[in-house]
Formats: sequence, structure tokens, C-alpha cells
Amino acid sequence: MESCQSAPSLNSGFKGVQITQEQGQREVFCGLTGIVWLHRKIKDAFFLVIGSRTCAHLIQSAAGVMIFAEPRFATAIIDDRDLAGLADANDELDRVVNQLLGRRPDIKLLFLVGSCPSEVIKLDLGKAAERLSIKYSDSGVRVLNYSGSGIETTFTEGEDACLVSLISQMSFSESTEKKLLIVGTLADIVEDQMARIFNKMGISNVCFFPSRLSSTLPPLSKNTFFILAQPFLNETAKGLEAKGVKRLSAKFPFGVEGSKAWYKAIATFFGVSSTVFDEAIKAPLERALKAVQVKKNIFQDKKVFIFPDSQLEISLARFLCQELGAEIVEIGTPYLNKKLMELELLALPNNVPIYEGQNVENQLQRCFDKKPDLVVCGLGLANPLEAKGFTTKWSIELVFSPVHGFEQAADLAELFCRPLDRHDRLKSLNTVETGVLN
Ligand code: SF4
Repeated sequence: MESCQSAPSLNSGFKGVQITQEQGQREVFCGLTGIVWLHRKIKDAFFLVIGSRTCAHLIQSAAGVMIFAEPRFATAIIDDRDLAGLADANDELDRVVNQLLGRRPDIKLLFLVGSCPSEVIKLDLGKAAERLSIKYSDSGVRVLNYSGSGIETTFTEGEDACLVSLISQMSFSESTEKKLLIVGTLADIVEDQMARIFNKMGISNVCFFPSRLSSTLPPLSKNTFFILAQPFLNETAKGLEAKGVKRLSAKFPFGVEGSKAWYKAIATFFGVSSTVFDEAIKAPLERALKAVQVKKNIFQDKKVFIFPDSQLEISLARFLCQELGAEIVEIGTPYLNKKLMELELLALPNNVPIYEGQNVENQLQRCFDKKPDLVVCGLGLANPLEAKGFTTKWSIELVFSPVHGFEQAADLAELFCRPLDRHDRLKSLNTVETGVLN
């Protein structure tokens, strides 16, 4: 949990959408959490957090049982000797890295991940990464750094910071070939499904970033374009644009409508005809429409309140309104990039209040007042709200589960419907028990 002083809210409209900035106490994860999905994606990378026992506990709790499966992440704990200046933190770091790389020859890319403690003691991890990269270059190991600290990053911003550090490793060529980069960590299964659809459209020049291996990072050129698959990659988008790589804008591939719009933007970019496009997406589109329709019956007109968490909130709210018929009574988001989210914002009903940032006390009060049927929130708020009679959906699952594309549209709907279904079943159970007791 992070906190800072409350400040007056500012209202700023966006083409009819009301956006309010809010500051105060926050209930969000720090960027270290991104390691949980990033280490599964980049299979030859290791994430070494330079932090405290708190950081180690956070990652262990977020990763759950994964910590027993020889994971590719760990924490180098800054202890009292480092803090008191009795030990040279750089020497200690070199010793830990030496031990780690000696034990794990499979590591080809090592991320030194900064945390609140490493930032507070001003440990220069950028310099350490440069020094260690030179030291281990003969062994083919690259060392990079980024910050996942709670001071600088909120939850998914950890992935954003990680990808920014990877951009520095991408080669730049004079190639004239038109290429498209799909940017954002996706489950391998989702990437495979997308690749099959591109194949059917006759598109071959598509690469995914981050790639599954650090050694196969896609090269860039002035003829490379990129499209985001995740809405939270603000700095990555800026970093790519700074290299001359242009962005295709589209809605994000969540739900049937979002996926269709996203694929359409790519098809248009490559000049794919409407007939080929329609044929390529026909089967998965039909399956998705059918599966989502079933869920719509459960969700129609339910009131939903979304607390800030991952920056996926705007796209998910659009999916809930457009495809499941829900009424969104508030959307909270930790950060809102209006440029990247423009098409999503335009697809929302005009009257949805959006809060950027957080003052959790005020937000809880608004939630109590609005009496939503479903509250989408983090783990810290979910059980207390359940105890007060609210039905909640843990938002973290929306980041950890594969939810992109046509094939996952029904799974995405199911994630929201499950708590409502459980609520109804428990209610009927209580009614039966009360009946028996009477
Ligand atoms: S990086 Fe900061 S916010 Fe995150 S676990 Fe460590 S101390 Fe806590």
C-alpha cells in the first residue's frame, strides 16, 4: 500500500467522457509483480530483485506455488550491513550474481530489478548492469536493469519498464521490408492463436515483443510499425516511437469487439481484403460470439464498480458494457494515457465517471453509495467488501490469465460472471437452509 497527501481533484473532459484525477491513499501492487508473468514469457531470462524481505515476500505471495518450480526470479536482500554502509553493496551484488550465474548456466539475460530500498539507498543499478554485462560478455550473458519499485511503478508498469530496457537490445537496420511488432506480454497459447489468424490472412511479417527468448528479439527499422496488445505500455510506446517505429492505433484485443477491431487494424495495415479478413476470423468470431452470448444473460444490466489496478480497466469496462450489457458505475485506473486509450474511451457510454489515481477512502464511500452488483478490486479490498455484502472479482486474475483474442473472450466473460453465479448459488443455499431451520 502506498500513501501520499490528498489533493483537490481536477476534472477534465475527453470528448464527453468525464475524467477526474484523484490523489490519496492507494491500494495497488508495485511493479515487481510483473516478474510473475515476465519470467514465464522470456524463458532464458532471470529477474534478480535488489530489495528487502518485504519485496521477497511480495513476489513469493504473488507467484504462489511457482516458487517451488526452480523459478527464474529471486531477491538479493539488502541487509543491515548494506544499509549501514559496512559492506560495499556493489561488491555484494557482484558476489550474488557470480554465485547465481555459476549455478544457472541456462540464464542468458539477467535483469537487475530495482526496488524501493535500492532506490532509497541510491544503489546505481544502471552502472552495475553495465559493469556486469562487460564482465559476463564472454559467457554470452547480458545484464539489464529496470525499476519495479512502488515509488516509481504501479503493478503492470513493471512490465512497461522491463520492455523499455529491452528496447536498448534491439538492433536497427536499413531494411525496407514492412514489418509489424505486436507489443506486450501474451501467453504463448494466445500468440499461437494470433499467428494462425495472421497466417490465414496471408500476413507473415509479424513479430511478438517480448520474444520467447532474449536471443531472438525482433530487429527494428524505419519500416517497422507496432501495435500494442496491452494498454499499459506507455513508456515502451514512447521508446519505440523515439526509435522511429510508428504505432498503429486500435482498440485492445479484449472481447469479441475489441479483438475484431484489433485484427482489422492489422489487416488494413497489410492491405488484406475484406473477404480474406472475414474468412480468416469467421470461425473464431462465431465461436466467441456464441460463447459470450451465454454469459450476457447472467450479466445484463448488472451494476459494476471498478477499482484501479492494472490500466486494463478502461478496455475491460468497454467489454462489460458493449458485450455483456453491464452498467459501469465507476472506472478507477492508476494512470490514463488519453492518446493510447482514445478509441477505447470513445467506445464507452458518455456518462461513465472515470477516476485516474486513487483516494481509497473516498472511492470506497462512492462504492457503498452506488451499491454495485459486482466490484472489481484487488485482494486487499475483496474480502472486506464481501464481508459487507458486496460481490467482488479479484482484478489480479485479469492480468495473470490469458484473456486476449477471440478464443479467450468467453473466458474473460466467465471471470466476471463466476462471482455473480457463486453469489446466486450461495443465496439459494441460504434460503434452503433457512427454510429447513424454519
Ligand atoms: S518494491 Fe517497494 S512496494 Fe514493492 S515490495 Fe519492495 S518495498 Fe514494497
